[in-house]
Amino acid sequence: MRVRVPSFAKINWMLEVLGARPDGYHEVRAVLQTIDLTDVLDVERTEEEIEVLCAHPDVPEGEANLVFRAAHLLRRAKGVKAGARIRIEKRIPVAAGLGGGSSNAAVALLALARLWGVALEVGEQLELGGALGSDVPFFLLGGTALGIGRGDEVYPLPEVRASLLVLANPGFPISTAWAYRQLTKRGPVGNISVCSRVWHRAVREGEPPPLSEIVVGNAFEEIVRERYPELARGLDRMRELGAVAVGLSGSGPTIFGVFDSESAAIRAEAAFATLGWWRARTRTVSRRQYWERLSAALSTEASRP
Ligand code: ATP
Repeated sequence: MRVRVPSFAKINWMLEVLGARPDGYHEVRAVLQTIDLTDVLDVERTEEEIEVLCAHPDVPEGEANLVFRAAHLLRRAKGVKAGARIRIEKRIPVAAGLGGGSSNAAVALLALARLWGVALEVGEQLELGGALGSDVPFFLLGGTALGIGRGDEVYPLPEVRASLLVLANPGFPISTAWAYRQLTKRGPVGNISVCSRVWHRAVREGEPPPLSEIVVGNAFEEIVRERYPELARGLDRMRELGAVAVGLSGSGPTIFGVFDSESAAIRAEAAFATLGWWRARTRTVSRRQYWERLSAALSTEASRP
């Protein structure tokens, strides 16, 4: 038995770091959004081994791969004897703030539960996801969502629909651990209530904020602007090219612009191509679209390669 499942990327509309926790993590408040940029997981049930294969040079194949850890965790939790061969086709840039590894792990849990024939309640999914990584539970919800705690406590928010998104990435990785260390050195950051006001209103009114107001702060922006002037220029350039909102995803280095004109979005994509950056024109994926696409893939047996 074999399935081929899309594994979606995310961006952050907001990312506040509220402080360090006794368990070594940071307390965050994030607004996350699934977008139409995917890896593909080709998952096959086998006799006993768990094998994870990925041709991307920066993605480990063994124990260090989050998908490998997801498979072992589920197998242990459910007492499964069968194995799996999982091939990851990488299209989401790695260590880019787009949540690729976390998304792969969430989708692997769903695909393996299906292939191994084990029931996985939503509560159990979220618990296993949280044990794998702070961003994994979000990919078991999808759409526009609030992440609190380590980011692993997720709640649905009114859906943002942005059909003209331009992503751009200068091609170097930024370590999330490095970014948190820089924040810790600087002490408490930001004015939390100002950053969140626009989203509080969204929850109260049941409507997403206007596109021009959806990006309301990323705790890492100042740090990465200072350390990587090229990225600072990229953020400013995206705005000059006509984006109505511009943001940094996670701790970067991927930046995104929200456009209200297709021609401006096309021009922006071309401008970043000229700079030699990786770039993509994409759109948001709502929770409903997310689950429709995942469910369709999970219920269709893939043909042999
Ligand atoms: P994070 O904020 O967790 O660093 P990110 O979205 O910035 O996430 P990822 O693409 O998830 O970055 O990769 C982070 C690191 O995780 C990489 O250095 C990579 O080697 C490792 N990794 C482990 N498993 C995977 C996977 N399945 N896909 C991508 N990277 C993975």
